[in-house]
Amino acid sequence: MTTATRADRAAGALLGLACGDAAGVPYEYATAPYDPQRGPEMIGGGLGPYAPGEWSDDTQMALCIARVAASNTPIDSPEGLDAIARGFLDWLREGATDVGTQTRQVLGALQADDDGPGLAERMTMLAAELHARSGRTAGNGALMRTAPIALAFPDDPERTARAARLIAELTHADPLAGDSCVLWCEAIRRSVADGVQGRPEDGFGLLPAERRDAWAALADGTWRQSALAPNGFTVTALYAALHAVEQTAGDPADSFRAGIAAAVALGDDTDTIAAITGSLLGAWAGATAIPAQRTGAVHGWPGYDGAGLRELGAYIVG
Ligand SMILES: [Mg+2]
Repeated sequence: MTTATRADRAAGALLGLACGDAAGVPYEYATAPYDPQRGPEMIGGGLGPYAPGEWSDDTQMALCIARVAASNTPIDSPEGLDAIARGFLDWLREGATDVGTQTRQVLGALQADDDGPGLAERMTMLAAELHARSGRTAGNGALMRTAPIALAFPDDPERTARAARLIAELTHADPLAGDSCVLWCEAIRRSVADGVQGRPEDGFGLLPAERRDAWAALADGTWRQSALAPNGFTVTALYAALHAVEQTAGDPADSFRAGIAAAVALGDDTDTIAAITGSLLGAWAGATAIPAQRTGAVHGWPGYDGAGLRELGAYIVG
């Protein structure tokens, strides 16, 4: 059990996501060499190029969801899903510094100013068509942005799981993408709601029965023998983040640092793996356990800083 409050843990999920993202940005796809002696430094650069402390598309897209979660419209209602879809289109037009392949294919097929009712349905249908055409839509782009969903209904695992899948399906129709979001959200939701160290295995029972075989390696622990890079695939990304989360012990601030360092050390999609890792570590320990040097430096689209994320996370769960 942690002594952090529920609000602090919710704030930690968002701040951890952002701090992980910004710490991984400089090393994404080896844009800069990573020195394990120094650990990840929020020096910017990367694919943006980004300013020091600036977060990337992972946190930007998560904030599209978080802002609706903070409104009076439930994120799993047709209106809420439309608002999230609308947010994604606004982000693509105004804020996107980097856009994942599948996300670009789906969002790019819609009119940039599409604001009509049923937008989420149209987006979901385009994602399904892309999946039917290519058979390959299990990238990590839904998992990377999923954390805020875990804060919306903190005492309702089934509703959280349903929302996680619906929002994944806006851009990623492969059920593996939805599964990974259900599992990671349940880990965060339990951590925030109950003050325990929630894990993705906790969400196994929230997957439809026919989906569980795909995650047998998670259930029996044999995922630890699998390769953790490349990690653009959502299943590998989840295992990579879980590996990083497990490289922690002791003092919460040291744990956060160690977990993010382990995520970045895996290489490949460093910002996304560190963002996913940070969202769970932040939910475990609370925002106050994330080093202030990091929370004081993060910032990015649509104009938030660390203090803003802290308020937003606490507000959503409140
Ligand atoms: Mg990114």
